[in-house]
Amino acid sequence: MADRDTPLINNLEDGPWPSYVKEIKRAAKKNAAAKDLLGVQELSFKDKITHWKHGGIVGVTGYGSGVIGRYVDVPEEFPAVEMFHTMRINMPSGWFYTTDALRKICDIWEKYGSGLTNFHGSTGDIILLGTDTKSLQPCFDELTEAGFDLGGSGSALRTPSACVGPARCEWACIDTLDICNNLTQEFQDEMHRPRWPYKFKIKVSGCPNDGVAAIARADFTIIGTWRDSLRIDQDEVRRYVKNGFDIKGIVTDKCPTKALAWDEKAQKLNLRADDCVRCMHCINKMCKAIRPGLDRGATILIGGKAPIIKGAYLSWVLVPFMKMEPPYDEAKELLHKIWEWWDENGRTRERVAELIERMGLKTFLRAVDLKPLPQMVYRPRANPYVFFD
Ligand code: SF4
Repeated sequence: MADRDTPLINNLEDGPWPSYVKEIKRAAKKNAAAKDLLGVQELSFKDKITHWKHGGIVGVTGYGSGVIGRYVDVPEEFPAVEMFHTMRINMPSGWFYTTDALRKICDIWEKYGSGLTNFHGSTGDIILLGTDTKSLQPCFDELTEAGFDLGGSGSALRTPSACVGPARCEWACIDTLDICNNLTQEFQDEMHRPRWPYKFKIKVSGCPNDGVAAIARADFTIIGTWRDSLRIDQDEVRRYVKNGFDIKGIVTDKCPTKALAWDEKAQKLNLRADDCVRCMHCINKMCKAIRPGLDRGATILIGGKAPIIKGAYLSWVLVPFMKMEPPYDEAKELLHKIWEWWDENGRTRERVAELIERMGLKTFLRAVDLKPLPQMVYRPRANPYVFFD
């Protein structure tokens, strides 16, 4: 296939970093859709507008989500991308693949689509970019044969995601992979059949370092933590100090609640366990000497989201500590109550955080049978005339 003339997007190939333009050009050597995609992008750069438009609803039998319809508004010029639908494929927990599984996905996608992929989309799914309507069903059938399923899209539960957790990280306080897989299996219906006011995301991080940025991106955030106190190996602490480590400047002064103090005379790191807010700072800086406690579970937070109707929210504490053991009934029960209330009261495209803000935390807590707790307070109140009953 002859190369397209694309002077504007060629600039994106400059520099030492990977370039998606370079990759699309590689795919364009054997795929007409990839070649036309370069043309559409060049035209968009020239015209300074997008040339993608929304079309009708497309999908596969029995599913309301997992496929996002894409059409170009200049099909006469770029017939190979007249339809360029995206398929979202549910990734494995923690994004672990065998090379065989990856090859299989790529082979199927080269057969039915443009061959272009995005590993991974921001929700976490494998994104297969660009196919036409008639190829969706046979492509889905082959992916299912290979053991894959569609992920969530639209006003549904989005594909839950989790950090690698105990598979590779010693700080994981919960089995993120199992929780993610369990919730995904349990809520297949919620994921594949959109029926809510808007999207809902669940993300699971094994420790408060929050490897999947769940706090900023998930409506229902599960973050591993511990209920007892940090474990401190004083011999290791002394070894750090003896080797010139600035324990005061790097650790104790930076502890957000001043829960730690270094006793120079006794050569001992003292902890006021009640003041520790489990931020992970001291563990990250002295990982040989300080470890999470042993009574482990998760903090559940609610309401993280990017700006759409209102601004961006970080999720805030809903349940300070929940034991997370299979089959995770307590978390599932809470999810059902949240969805029930949100589905009943939410306006179109209103995320759960926005509904809580509109109707009040008090109303929300009543609906989900939770008692108000100090940990839910975002900042001390400025108005003394508002009371919790
Ligand atoms: Fe302080 Fe954070 Fe360490 Fe707790 S985890 S003692 S709050 S630095």
